[in-house]
Amino acid sequence: MTTTALETVAHWIGGERLHEASRYGEVTDPATGAVTRRVAFASAADVDRAVAAATAGFEAWSAQSLTRRANVMFKFRELLAANAAELARVITAEHGKTTDDARGEVQRGLEVVEFACGAAHLLKGEASEAVATGVDSHSLRQPLGVSVGITPFNFPAMVPMWMFPLALACGNAFILKPSEKDPSASLLMADWLAEAGLPDGAFNVVHGDREAVEALLTHPGVASVSFVGSTPVARFIYETATSHGKRVQALGGAKNHAVVMPDADVDIAADAIASAAYGSAGQRCMAISAAVAVGPAGDALAEALEARVDAVRVGPGAEEGSQMGPLVTGAARERVLGAIEAGVGEGAELRRDGRDVSVPGHEDGFWVGPTLFDRVTPEMSVYRDEIFGPVLILLRASTFEEALDLVNRNPYGNGAAIFTTDGRTAREFEQRVQVGMVGVNVPIPVPMAYYSFGGWKQSLFGDLHVHGREGVLFYTRGKVVTERWPDQARGADYGFPAHK
Ligand code: NAD
Repeated sequence: MTTTALETVAHWIGGERLHEASRYGEVTDPATGAVTRRVAFASAADVDRAVAAATAGFEAWSAQSLTRRANVMFKFRELLAANAAELARVITAEHGKTTDDARGEVQRGLEVVEFACGAAHLLKGEASEAVATGVDSHSLRQPLGVSVGITPFNFPAMVPMWMFPLALACGNAFILKPSEKDPSASLLMADWLAEAGLPDGAFNVVHGDREAVEALLTHPGVASVSFVGSTPVARFIYETATSHGKRVQALGGAKNHAVVMPDADVDIAADAIASAAYGSAGQRCMAISAAVAVGPAGDALAEALEARVDAVRVGPGAEEGSQMGPLVTGAARERVLGAIEAGVGEGAELRRDGRDVSVPGHEDGFWVGPTLFDRVTPEMSVYRDEIFGPVLILLRASTFEEALDLVNRNPYGNGAAIFTTDGRTAREFEQRVQVGMVGVNVPIPVPMAYYSFGGWKQSLFGDLHVHGREGVLFYTRGKVVTERWPDQARGADYGFPAHK
């Protein structure tokens, strides 16, 4: 089959689908390896059109009252909830994750939409009367203009929804550049926003690769850029867009640790860590990729993890009973296989090897089975690199201090968890660990929509996390008004204006 015979995933600009492009990418079904669709790649001229449409959309949308904006969000929330199964199906077909996992992703995105429905409350300013005689002050939070979101493949619905619901509720127009690996979810969301009553141009989708991204980062009509993806690209996005005067939040990669104390219940810890390491084939920014066993916890934990690994059912995401799907692309599979190879070469103890997993009837799918390394040390590449696949490494530490030091020396700072039954140890960890999101007996501590999500160190470039209160601050800028209504002229005063 040639790619030109395939259905095209189009851009969505100014309320219209645009199928024409000078370049196209291929979208594959990870469970079969087959190319299923092609996706239009935007040129700088396409990005110009999108920014022009968004600029017009901003005029129309930002003029609408808070009540109207909230009504559109409520309607969008209803459409999303009613069509969640359809969105999950599309996610599974292009990403490969299980249907259950895709439903979970839609649910977490929907919660941000619900938070955005109440944005009017968060946009309230402050007011002070009589800051000086006859003078009052109040503050406003106003939208930025055209906001851009550039998102990764691993959550094609949830990560865009970390961004656009709040950006829109705050009165901005939005241009989404989703991952070219699983682009179709973005168009379903665009359809539902239009059906919900959002004016044309207030939400746009441009697909593509570096060419489209660079045009967005440098375009004078773009006010802000929200990015989620790998650390090298996050750094590039932050540096390029800030040097072009944009407000930027760029969330990067991760190496999330779970510290297991000797007093922890081994089965509780192993269930939690295995789920967090192998769910979505390890392709989650909050996946646990490094378990750190303290003192005597090590051997029992290793055995308990092996038992979980042996029970994982690997299979197509859409098939009933599958617990772990394939990796997103053939290239991702090759990269993960290479990382496992490197771990073996560096002397890590391979306790479970997922390299030869194959799924009958789906021999060309991008499979890697759950893999477990033990006795990993910090200088090994399986520890240093983000593998982003179903590979869990186990490290051993003699004391809590040693384990904490290991977590804090890691250049990433997204999330970390501790498993313990001792409150004092948990509190010590919570206070001293240098990451943005902490779990206590919770392996993937993704904050609820009304808190903010984001990491520290190499996991975030910028100042503000996404959604929650920090999301509102990111998508608005402040203004303070000082007003007086004098009844008569009192003569010029050339001193510095001090209110009395
Ligand atoms: P990626 O960095 O390859 O791609 C992310 C986005 O950037 C995509 O839209 C892609 O088209 C674009 N892009 C890729 N290379 C580019 C380049 N050279 N120049 C300009 N744009 C480019 O990430 P991915 O593989 O899609 O997603 C996985 C990564 O995302 C992992 O590192 C994961 O940890 C990270 N992630 C982080 C979080 C978080 O909250 N911190 C959440 C989800 C994913």
